Amino acid sequence: MTDPRAPTSGAPAGNRPAGGPPPVPDLSRHALFLDFDGTLVDIAPRPDDIRIPEILPGLLTALDAAAGGAIALVSGRRLADLRGFLPEFRGVIVGSHGSETWPEDAAPAPGLRQPDAGPVRAALRALAATRAAYLFEEKPAGAVIHFRADPALDAEARAAAEAVVAAHPGFALQRAKMAYEIHPAGVSKDRAVARLMDRAPFRGRVPVFAGDDTTDEPALGWVRAREGISVHVGDRPDTAAAWRLDSPAALRDWLARAVSVEERG
Ligand SMILES: [Mg+2]
Repeated sequence: MTDPRAPTSGAPAGNRPAGGPPPVPDLSRHALFLDFDGTLVDIAPRPDDIRIPEILPGLLTALDAAAGGAIALVSGRRLADLRGFLPEFRGVIVGSHGSETWPEDAAPAPGLRQPDAGPVRAALRALAATRAAYLFEEKPAGAVIHFRADPALDAEARAAAEAVVAAHPGFALQRAKMAYEIHPAGVSKDRAVARLMDRAPFRGRVPVFAGDDTTDEPALGWVRAREGISVHVGDRPDTAAAWRLDSPAALRDWLARAVSVEERG
């Protein structure tokens, strides 16, 4: 059994699969970067159907206070959705994989081009209209085609999304869980984390990143390369993370130990 308070240097080396429970963050010196869906909350069949666990708002507020504000949610979701789910949260929120940040000046990305997403949205909306199992989602800088209702549509959705990206320079394809997202090229969670780490109150702290999805892997690798705490939530065998936790509930429990908050029910 791995000692959950083992030093960071005890991380598995190289590309070996992620080990067990990570060391509990020391919020006097760590900065927290947390994905949302599948990490802090369980994934729901439709993105709007997620349930916010009772403990979560208070837990995030306690973590924010203990870390001196060095906490950020880093999600592929729209910023407005995240703020709606967690209206009390006062840390930084990065939405749409880094296309949007709240507060607006928390992580400026000078020079990041935001090409017109209209044609990309129109193409994915047209694809979604071809089958009832597809779900179209508009993003502030792009769009998503979901196929969770019929996983067999993966190859068809990928081929169609690849064709859309090929036809629209300046955009990139991002695979997510049961979905393909098209967003501006150059937007990614690791770049968003790197920008935040350059600024107070994050600067000088050791980064912690927790995420469940392929979209989190670049940030997990970035944090691991800096000897931070990289945590994969779930059972992906090829994660860049050094540690793993089984579920959002296990992640919340782990975070609660950093601030001595207990989950009920
Ligand atoms: Mg996620």
